[in-house]
Amino acid sequence: MNRDPNATELLDLLKESREYTQYFAELGVETIALPGDHVKSELSHSLHGTLVVEPSTQCIGPSVPELIISNLPQPTSLFGGLTATQPTPLQSTESMEDVWRDIGDCTRCGLCEGRTQVVNTYGNHKARLMFVGEAPGADEDAQGRPFVGRAGQLLTKIIEAIGMKREDVLIGNVNRCRPPGNRQPTLEEAAICRPFLFREIAAVQPDVIVVMGNTALRNLLEVREGITRVRGKFQDFRGIKVMPTFHPAYLLRDPSKKRETWEDLKKVRDYLDSLPAPPQES
Ligand code: URA
Repeated sequence: MNRDPNATELLDLLKESREYTQYFAELGVETIALPGDHVKSELSHSLHGTLVVEPSTQCIGPSVPELIISNLPQPTSLFGGLTATQPTPLQSTESMEDVWRDIGDCTRCGLCEGRTQVVNTYGNHKARLMFVGEAPGADEDAQGRPFVGRAGQLLTKIIEAIGMKREDVLIGNVNRCRPPGNRQPTLEEAAICRPFLFREIAAVQPDVIVVMGNTALRNLLEVREGITRVRGKFQDFRGIKVMPTFHPAYLLRDPSKKRETWEDLKKVRDYLDSLPAPPQES
């Protein structure tokens, strides 16, 4: 059947628009405003914000508007296109305990209903290396510590493979309560919980954060691609180096991906080795 070329183009445009909307929803963008609209973001602890859509004077390929993610004052982009703000480096006067006190026996989202306990970030409060996963599973929910099940045992081996111990590093998740049936946290659940992770990161200021899997990747970084594309390339989270890699649970399902994870972790080890030694405790 020969389809009218105009109809084909229209269908392509519709498909493209749907993909873009989905993409920005996944980034956590909640509002799309036209230029001139007065939009205030209250996402003081959040990475993502409002999307301002400006008509582009020059389109390459399909008609895609120029997009600027704004959460605080907009920097002027010389080049157009997708421009993330350059948030100031993380600063904090809080300790991890302050953050946990604030979290308390959290009921900020529906995940509290099915959990046994809140699973906070665990490990060395002076860690130079942090690992971030998605959310607790059954073992973590029962024990109150992140990554203590099968995926956690593999994570321990990964940490030891780069010459470190679990006690040296910090391990956390985007969400602190086990989602029912171990499903992925929704965008809303992640958006409610991740500010606490950001505050912990600010309190500890590790040199490198390893984000494991798509949920951690997309909640820390404004990236469009999935983990398969982005893994192995250092990214930036407010001045802290971020290495995306596969989630250990994925490695349990597909052990052939362990080699790539090892390559990613070697880069992390080499980067940490290149830094000056931290000052000795007196
Ligand atoms: N998977 C995660 O993402 N986090 C955990 O703590 C355990 C399994």
